[in-house]
Amino acid sequence: MKLEKVPLLVFWESTKACPLLCRHCRANAILKPLPDELNTKEAKLLINQISEFENPKPVFIITGGDPLMRKDLFELIEYARSLGIAVGLSPAVSENLNEKVLLKLKNLGVKIISVSLDGASKETHEYLRQVNGIYEMTINAIKMLVDFGFQVQVNTLIWKGNLNELPYLVKLLLDLNVRIWEVFFLIITGRAGKELDIEINEYEDVVQFLVDVSRYSIQIRTVEAPFYRRAKLERLKGKNYSSDLYCKLIEKLKELLGEPKCELDNRILPTRDGFGVIFVSYNGTIFPSGFLPYPLGNIKKDHLVKVYQEHPILKKLREAKLNGICGNCIYNKICGGSRARAYAQYGDLFADDPACILTYLKWQIY
Ligand code: SF4
Repeated sequence: MKLEKVPLLVFWESTKACPLLCRHCRANAILKPLPDELNTKEAKLLINQISEFENPKPVFIITGGDPLMRKDLFELIEYARSLGIAVGLSPAVSENLNEKVLLKLKNLGVKIISVSLDGASKETHEYLRQVNGIYEMTINAIKMLVDFGFQVQVNTLIWKGNLNELPYLVKLLLDLNVRIWEVFFLIITGRAGKELDIEINEYEDVVQFLVDVSRYSIQIRTVEAPFYRRAKLERLKGKNYSSDLYCKLIEKLKELLGEPKCELDNRILPTRDGFGVIFVSYNGTIFPSGFLPYPLGNIKKDHLVKVYQEHPILKKLREAKLNGICGNCIYNKICGGSRARAYAQYGDLFADDPACILTYLKWQIY
């Protein structure tokens, strides 16, 4: 598939409404929907536009807020499915996520569902989610999703409160039969503040740790840390730039799970903000990703396919015409650094990703 023509995933922030009030919420979600969120007719216009990408069409990921807060959710899923579009859902864990709803989603042909778990312990997860009892509800939700036969993805934010729990979290996911782990690295946007973030030198330890975790029969996807791919490829050449934290995490991982189950593979999916993924907000504004608040158009007046394929900013991002260390790095076509982090830190879409060890140590790999 040509990623410059068709994204793998179209994310839609279906609503800002959500029953939770998480400390790090990207969407700045609130209890009630905003008046200008896309109505049913406008949401169908978005789905029509997605259906006009050539085959294989992108997967339509309905996120939020909490998509279960939308009254027309089932109607929209049914409509997307009728146009041959695969649908994934990213609901909040709440009483709305129950067996009856899951059965309906299963019957509508929803393929993949992701839920968030941000720590291996009740205290850690509930500190971020700010709801008593939500840890247990989340574990139960994951069990239900696995039992229903959905592809289950667990999303985890890396933050200072869960660093030392990561090996335990991997064990918990494997015990729950979760095989896709999407690991988010903080971008200061929405409600997420610097106080939650890990130290800059810890980023490399975590991505190196994830390289090892990928050898335990769980698929690792990173969000806003594309340099995970550089870490993986460099490891295949025998290089590992990590330090003490990594050693500690790996020691615990091996104690809990034994030696890795498989060899490290060299599979890399070079998606990044606006390349393989595109994001449509609650009111139809198109962004390169949910973490990169750089508007590219609005589906009410611009066609998503045209914006995705032809917007000059996206073209420039895809060509990896970047500044600084990222600009000259041999990995910039498969990594390119987090454009969202560069934008959040420097207000410059094309600046270095400040969290990559190569940029903050000013190393250049040609
Ligand atoms: S220097 Fe930039 S392109 Fe190279 S690995 Fe780091 S973030 Fe990626």
